[in-house]
Amino acid sequence: MASRRQRGAREGQGAPANDSALRLGISGMTGMVAVALMLSGCSSTTVAVRSTTSSTPTSISTTTLPPTTSTSTSTTTTAPTVPPGRPLTGMVVGIDPGHNGRNYTDAGYLNQQVFNGRTMESCDTTGTQTDAGYPEHEFAFNVARHLRAALTKEGAVVVMTRLDNAGLGPCIDQRAKILNDAKSNVAIDIHADGGPAGGRGFAILEPVPDGINDAIVGPSATLGADVQAAFLSGTGMPISTYDGTNGVAPRSDLAGLNLATEPKVLIECGNMRNATDAAMLSSESFQRAAARSLAQAITTYLTRQ
Ligand SMILES: [Zn+2]
Repeated sequence: MASRRQRGAREGQGAPANDSALRLGISGMTGMVAVALMLSGCSSTTVAVRSTTSSTPTSISTTTLPPTTSTSTSTTTTAPTVPPGRPLTGMVVGIDPGHNGRNYTDAGYLNQQVFNGRTMESCDTTGTQTDAGYPEHEFAFNVARHLRAALTKEGAVVVMTRLDNAGLGPCIDQRAKILNDAKSNVAIDIHADGGPAGGRGFAILEPVPDGINDAIVGPSATLGADVQAAFLSGTGMPISTYDGTNGVAPRSDLAGLNLATEPKVLIECGNMRNATDAAMLSSESFQRAAARSLAQAITTYLTRQ
């Protein structure tokens, strides 16, 4: 317990609460805009259907065509086949890139209290940074952008909790809601830790049952194993020497995991307070490798079922 609090304090840089890995910003409304933009950005009819589905499933065409004129507009994606090289066709993947870039500008916003699935806590924190001043939010957003590109290329619809790194929020509860409402098949929260200077490596934070998320705890452990294997082989970052057991930490204090209704893990991609990790995390090549590894893990997970 003490260690959890410590981690939170580190990452939150003075903000109350724990790791908070999942605290971003924006309002729910902006989040919806983000979803809509993402969806429109990655084409395909299935996308439009998913995004507009509020309660009534949209029927795309069928209306005017006489039943006999069959062949012409059968572009309807009612029975999607998986094109070669696009194994994630028909899948929705949620990405939460953590703390937003201007969270530091509004303490009042960050300190508003929201429900994290078990208790009330602050909306978000600023995140951590390297000793050289490279911020966690920039790292996480860069990885998220690269990951979104990779997944989209594989045919997935990608939903992000924010589309830039220049705003506030959304709060942790809203970030979970955005990914839940998008009917994500799987989701990942991307962070980097502010751990002890002597500690190295990446950790996978996984949900524990709280009622809301009961159904996704088992699948999330499978996802976590896929993420760990891919990240270890694809990035050169070692498994955490200080967080969790063998780099896996069950967490009951994170809204993004407590409130999730799709399989989800949070990855702390490395320790920004460790000099070796910090040099890696700050580099473009590592950020791209991290994204490739996460895409590979997600593809492995989604195509196994
Ligand atoms: Zn964080």
